[in-house]
Amino acid sequence: MTPSAKVDQQHSMEPRDHGQHDHGACVLSALERARTAFGDKGIKLTPLRQRVFEEIAGSHDALGAYEVLDRMARKSGERLAPISVYRAIDALLAAGVVHRIESKNAFFACHAPHQGQERHIALVCERCQTVIEVSGADIFAAMETASAACGFKLSLAVAEGSGLCPACATLPTIAQATGMVTQP
Ligand SMILES: [Zn+2]
Ligand SMILES: [Zn+2]
Ligand SMILES: [Zn+2]
Repeated sequence: MTPSAKVDQQHSMEPRDHGQHDHGACVLSALERARTAFGDKGIKLTPLRQRVFEEIAGSHDALGAYEVLDRMARKSGERLAPISVYRAIDALLAAGVVHRIESKNAFFACHAPHQGQERHIALVCERCQTVIEVSGADIFAAMETASAACGFKLSLAVAEGSGLCPACATLPTIAQATGMVTQP
């Protein structure tokens, strides 16, 4: 099993290989897509928005707004007002370059080239926090059909998953690794 084993060739980004891939390339292409997305929508990728985006895109993990704030403060020595970080995140969400994990109120950079046109489902690893996006078109369509069938006007549909990413799923559990598997 190589770390580059694909979950879903068509829709997901590369699964996390625990730091062994060239993440600098992911950041560069994410930044490039962010510039295009902001340009297309006619909104400005201000220096602050770009800094917040670079912080979120610095890994494939989901980060809370305060984690973003803390990391930025550690780097620059200057602590921004939470509201400015929230506003920057809102702009990044609107541009579709960052997505929210509703169940965790955390944010991750979109590393999949869908630009927000197609609905994706975020799968969050419970062990390493990495986020993998997979196509959710069928699931969201089913939610809309089911809602419409009972006359419900759906305004928000959330589908998220948590579990183990491919890299973590192949790791032994702590009990197995230390030989301390408890006997039944
Ligand atoms: Zn990466
Ligand atoms: Zn995405
Ligand atoms: Zn993992």
